[in-house]
Amino acid sequence: MNPGAWWRQLWGRWASKPGADSIPEILWQATLQSHPFLAERPSDQLWRLRGMCAQFLRSKEFSGAQGLQISDEIALSIAAQACLPVLGLGLHWYDDFKGIVVHPSVMLAPRQLQDEAGVVHSYHEELSGEAMPGGPVTLSWEDVQEGSMAAGYNVVIHEFVHKLDMRDGVADGCPPLPSRDLALRWTRVMQAAYDRFTEALSMADRFGGPPPWLDRYAATAPAEFFAVACEAYFVNRQRFALEWPDLMQLFDDFFGVGQAVS
Ligand SMILES: [Zn+2]
Repeated sequence: MNPGAWWRQLWGRWASKPGADSIPEILWQATLQSHPFLAERPSDQLWRLRGMCAQFLRSKEFSGAQGLQISDEIALSIAAQACLPVLGLGLHWYDDFKGIVVHPSVMLAPRQLQDEAGVVHSYHEELSGEAMPGGPVTLSWEDVQEGSMAAGYNVVIHEFVHKLDMRDGVADGCPPLPSRDLALRWTRVMQAAYDRFTEALSMADRFGGPPPWLDRYAATAPAEFFAVACEAYFVNRQRFALEWPDLMQLFDDFFGVGQAVS
């Protein structure tokens, strides 16, 4: 517990209508400094993001696991990165859950796998984050801090994009879309991009060429491809536009923050 933390005061009852002003300037500037992909956004978007962060901190419940204290830095870093994907969509996209659990480092999740002979094997999977359908988002703070613009890596965006994807009940790489036209285009463009990525990855594995840009974990399922692609889209728009022009256009149309090319 860290009862003196500023975000806890915001979370308290007195801040019934938090706005951008609720976030102290010094904390906000420190957050932008440690997240350059946020700082490069246009000033009107940053002001909106700041206001959304205040609402996010007011409505969500952070808890630290394994003795981790949720500091202002941790709460605001996660809030700002989590709000970026819904900046143009609205915070109501996250209204199906309240809890955000932060672990100091990687989590070990118990898993079971049944082999062909029917034998059940128990093991632990290492997780940097996890999003439960209708439930909390869990993050490893160590992995949050390892975000990379060059690699297009960002665990907060990854897990919160899963929440958007799961809003219609299925994690399939397709969030609820506002029109039939966009839904048709989504299926076509995403399928083509997923096929291109998995093909490029297997060619690189087989012939030793350079692997495609994006974490290879994207090849495990369409839902993971969507989450991984969004990490890169939000943290490195310049490279993303070069590598995935079709996805760039599609994501700009869906997320509604496409004007933010610096
Ligand atoms: Zn994932």
